[in-house]
Amino acid sequence: MKAHDGMYIGGQWRDAAGADTITVVNPADEQIIGQVPAGTADDVDAAVRAARAAFPAWAATPPAERAARIAAVRDALAARADEIAATVTAELGAPPKFAQAVHTGLPVAVAGSYAELAASYAFEEKVGNSTVLLEPVGVVGAITPWNYPLHQIVAKVAPALAAGCTIVLKPAEDTPLTAQLFAEAVDEAGLPAGVFNLVTGLGAVAGQALAEHPGVDLVSFTGSTAVGRRIGATAGAAVKRVALELGGKSANVILPSADLPKAVAAGIADVMRNSGQSCNAQTRMLVHKDQYDEAVALAVEAVAAYVPGERIGPLVSAKQQQRVRGYIETGVAEGARIVAGGPEAPRETGYYVAPTVFADVTPEMTIAQEEIFGPVVAILRYEDVDDAVRIANDSVYGLGGAVWGEQEEAVAVARRMDTGQVDINGGRFNLLAPFGGYKRSGVGRELGAHGLTEYLQTKSLQF
Ligand code: NAP
Ligand code: MG
Repeated sequence: MKAHDGMYIGGQWRDAAGADTITVVNPADEQIIGQVPAGTADDVDAAVRAARAAFPAWAATPPAERAARIAAVRDALAARADEIAATVTAELGAPPKFAQAVHTGLPVAVAGSYAELAASYAFEEKVGNSTVLLEPVGVVGAITPWNYPLHQIVAKVAPALAAGCTIVLKPAEDTPLTAQLFAEAVDEAGLPAGVFNLVTGLGAVAGQALAEHPGVDLVSFTGSTAVGRRIGATAGAAVKRVALELGGKSANVILPSADLPKAVAAGIADVMRNSGQSCNAQTRMLVHKDQYDEAVALAVEAVAAYVPGERIGPLVSAKQQQRVRGYIETGVAEGARIVAGGPEAPRETGYYVAPTVFADVTPEMTIAQEEIFGPVVAILRYEDVDDAVRIANDSVYGLGGAVWGEQEEAVAVARRMDTGQVDINGGRFNLLAPFGGYKRSGVGRELGAHGLTEYLQTKSLQF
């Protein structure tokens, strides 16, 4: 795999301030595929300075011209589609088809959506005797995770660019090669120097330095609740804007009026997507008591198609594999019943976890409460619709969700769910719909026009 040995700062690849490196490993075969520099506070400082210097001119660039540059980034990404997909497969372990369709196709489409939004968005509005100007917030510090390595970057950088902000990105240490490809695309797209800057490095070093840097006006973070809480506290103390996307434990409510085989198969597919490493995965399947045994049998049948190393890839790292296997052991210890999979690794090499289905899960169990971030489904039993809604909302999280059943009834249940998104009868992902959490799933929204407003602040002129 191609790896740059520098940082992308001020429109060029430059040497890192220190000599430390990060080793990138292919989780499917545990082989080393590259090395990138581990940035320090000095690299972050240089990148923030470059972003600050570039800000006034970029903020003043007409939206149509910003739109054209975002479209050029999209085109440069599309031109690298094969290389991006191969890189995501190598550093994340995503099966090639999924790497092409989702890890590459989705961010290209999201970049395109912001090229359109930048061109069409009303950056000025009239309110009575006032004209309200929607102005860019300033320099954005973006900290991204590894689970959708390019999508998480584009979902922050594209709206920030559309708004007129400049950016410093600190991507996940496990997937820095995809981030470097993104920087190449930016470079090729001809963005002015310093508008986008990349510092690879460790979270506790480069990430923290970015979140704390006084030259950053807005911190946009996606990742774990533990880190998100710290970043929120740091930003709050500095009175900085912050956006947090912290994962979830989403409920899939299957009503008695649902097409049960379809609902169960779709629910299993949703969790197995990306080896279970999706923040909005519908990992709690809620089934009416009278249909429970049938649903469990259907789930066992559906999950058999996800053969590790074929249809489903490994987890990103040995650490995540250990974590997820630990959760499976906790599920057994707390009395849940394994009906498929289990804690044993299904392959000798690679960080694989067996696709696992738990039955007889009750709401207070750890596997019904905590985000596992692996291919693990918990099937819970409910008595009636009120009970289903109560169980669905019995979570500190509220990011995604699903309801299956007669449409009107399904929508009525969705309205009662404390969560940011609900798919009705398998409704497709919409890249223009606001994405983000209720409760501890986070603060702020990504994607579409709502994602753009995160990077804007208002100024009112009275006449
Ligand atoms: P994480 O540590 O929160 O990583 C997210 C990003 O934050 C990475 O770029 C990370 O850098 C950086 N970071 C870590 N510590 C930091 C700090 N003190 N200050 C600033 N930035 C910091 O998440 P993880 O360890 O990779 O995954 C752990 C769990 O988080 C998962 O099991 C899952 O439950 C959850 N998660 C959620 C999402 C989501 O989409 N919401 C995505 C990934 C993970 P490093 O890469 O160097 O750690
Ligand atoms: Mg980490």
